[in-house]
Amino acid sequence: MNLSIKIFISLLLSVIVGLILGEENLPWLKAYIAPIGTMFINLIKMIIVPVVLSSLVCGVASLGDTKKLGRIGIKVILLYLVTTAIALIIGLGLASILQPGVGMNLVPEKAPDIKEAPTFITVLVNMIPANPIMSMATADMLPIIVFALAIGIGITAVGQKGQPLLNFFDSLAEVSYKLISMIMSLAPYGVFALLVPVVAENGPKVLLPLLSVIVTVYIGCILHALIVYSSIVSALGKISPIKFFKGMTEAMLLAFTTCSSAATLPINMKNCEEKLGANKSVASFVLPLGATINMDGTAIYQGVCAIFIANIYGIDLTMSQMIMIIISGTLASVGTAGVPGAGVIMLALVLQTVGLPMEGIALVAGIDRVLDMIRTCLNITGDAAVTVAVSQTEKGK
Ligand code: ASP
Repeated sequence: MNLSIKIFISLLLSVIVGLILGEENLPWLKAYIAPIGTMFINLIKMIIVPVVLSSLVCGVASLGDTKKLGRIGIKVILLYLVTTAIALIIGLGLASILQPGVGMNLVPEKAPDIKEAPTFITVLVNMIPANPIMSMATADMLPIIVFALAIGIGITAVGQKGQPLLNFFDSLAEVSYKLISMIMSLAPYGVFALLVPVVAENGPKVLLPLLSVIVTVYIGCILHALIVYSSIVSALGKISPIKFFKGMTEAMLLAFTTCSSAATLPINMKNCEEKLGANKSVASFVLPLGATINMDGTAIYQGVCAIFIANIYGIDLTMSQMIMIIISGTLASVGTAGVPGAGVIMLALVLQTVGLPMEGIALVAGIDRVLDMIRTCLNITGDAAVTVAVSQTEKGK
């Protein structure tokens, strides 16, 4: 049986089993089942840094010259920023129509503990790793990307003498890809173990009161994928949206269950190259960058939550506040890590920018996992759509 079908069956099974077992079984599920899921996630995490470093170095070195790198870089950044801004507009627009939270009496009393969001300048400064080994030790992706770019450029610049180093990274990349395939064959079990405790914990009791937010975020993400990504892959990528989404199933299911763009990256690379025909050097440059800076699902979530929080407090957002949300949300997404729950920190930043009450986060924090699943799924699909598009437009250049 095809791996994506197996993962999908395990996802359905985990929902059924989780609902049947319910909250009363949570202690033993957390003690015995959840660790199996963590082991699976650890296996994926184990491979993230080697795969990003090696494939990015090889990707850059294989582009051959810095002019090409610059051209691709500009295309990618533009596509990433534009799609994220569109995602925020879809989130705000849809929430303005569906009006989640209107007439609800849910106002919480206490502001939750939220880590402070970094400023844009801090993000830029920290992008350059003073100590690349430390960045690798903490899996800090943005500085790792910059380091890999530098090594790749260096290898190209020294020519023949750089060949042994390139061979080393090339071999590391091949070994990492092989390991990813082996780890992915465990995904059906990993996914089941990850999801059962989540479903048991967030049963209907927790979800129903906030159903309007959940439905709005899910519809927004599906619309964004169907409209924006279908257009990008068919107009620029020259492949049919059906082929695109079909080729992405494994990566999308994995993102949905792990809630981490970074953890899905190795599989996303594999899918883009093997199933969607993306150029290897383009994919190994565009995808790691996207997993770190491009988050359309998170953007939709921010737009919807901003309107939801305004609604429950009876605040009317002005047009200029909406524009502020689009700008701050797009920029904040660059600095957000592709790890579970990171979007909440961004939401805090966006609320702060337009002066909405932070206490509202306490409400959505309770259902964050369910929202994180769909937004991460969209986040990585966006990276793949841009990869396919850039790969096609670079053909023959
Ligand atoms: N979990 C998301 C991701 O990894 C980020 C977020 O929390 O929105 O892409």
